[in-house]
This record gives sequence, structure tokens and C-alpha cells, in this order.
Amino acid sequence: MEYCVQCGNALSSEAKFCPKCGAPVKRELYTAPRPKRGITSPSPIRENPVLT
Ligand SMILES: [Zn+2]
Repeated sequence: MEYCVQCGNALSSEAKFCPKCGAPVKRELYTAPRPKRGITSPSPIRENPVLT
């Protein structure tokens, strides 16, 4: 059973909008979890530092 994030109303499994408040039902959390990219570092290390 899913519940509306806005009003907490019980939603059917096929409901795309809350019948009570009309808020769109978010299902992103339940489908295709995004793999976290923990391998790539935010600041890549230079392999060939230029020393002039
Ligand atoms: Zn609602």
C-alpha cells in the first residue's frame, strides 16, 4: 500500500494521482534505484603535471 506524500491518503497500486488532493504519486523511489558513483573522484589527479 502506498500513501500520498501530501495528505497521507491511501492510494491504489495503479493510482498516478491522489484522488483526495490530486497530488502526483511519485514512484521514482521504487523503480530503478540509481547506482551511486563513488569511484570517480570530484577532483581528478593529473597524471602528467606540467612544471614549467
Ligand atoms: Zn493526497
